Amino acid sequence: MKLNPLENLIENLCKLPGIGRKTAQRLAFFIMSMEEKEALQIADSIINLKKNARYCSVCFNITQNEKCNICNNPERQHSIICVVEEPSNIVLIEKTGYKGVYHVLGGTFSPNDGITAEKLKIKELEERVKTGQIEEVIIATSPNTKGELTAQWIADILKKYKIKVSRIAYGLPIGIDIEFADEVTLLKALEGRKPINV
Ligand code: ZN
Repeated sequence: MKLNPLENLIENLCKLPGIGRKTAQRLAFFIMSMEEKEALQIADSIINLKKNARYCSVCFNITQNEKCNICNNPERQHSIICVVEEPSNIVLIEKTGYKGVYHVLGGTFSPNDGITAEKLKIKELEERVKTGQIEEVIIATSPNTKGELTAQWIADILKKYKIKVSRIAYGLPIGIDIEFADEVTLLKALEGRKPINV
């Protein structure tokens, strides 16, 4: 059965995180009421993102080029890698003035949801540590069960290399998603990072 255009949009908006059916309905009706030009701009920006954005070949940040601006910047400290869950976490950590580079895992270890270690970019991280001049890996996954599990997993894998592996200290409430941390808390967390005991 083919959905009518409004139902079709509602169904598609429901696929977005944090958007339930009610919100999707509200958004769809709002889009219907918008100027056609403005509504099409939203549609175009999605097309543009999907056609022109890709993942950085080094750190898996989102970029338009083969390498992202951070990996390409000679002024960054390429010997320090901050490991994050999602590209959106980079925006937050950038606000703290962090000068190293990043590695995006693409999620956290969560076998129940089918996210096993192989699905995360852990092998790629190990490869960077193995072949690059890396001095420190700072693991900035969320201080919840999945984030901790992932941090331990990575620390375990990196144990055999002669580098410092640290976990950001959290003034954050335990269980919180890093996405909801403010920049002051995050800066303190970075400064207070501690070596991981494995
Ligand atoms: Zn990059």
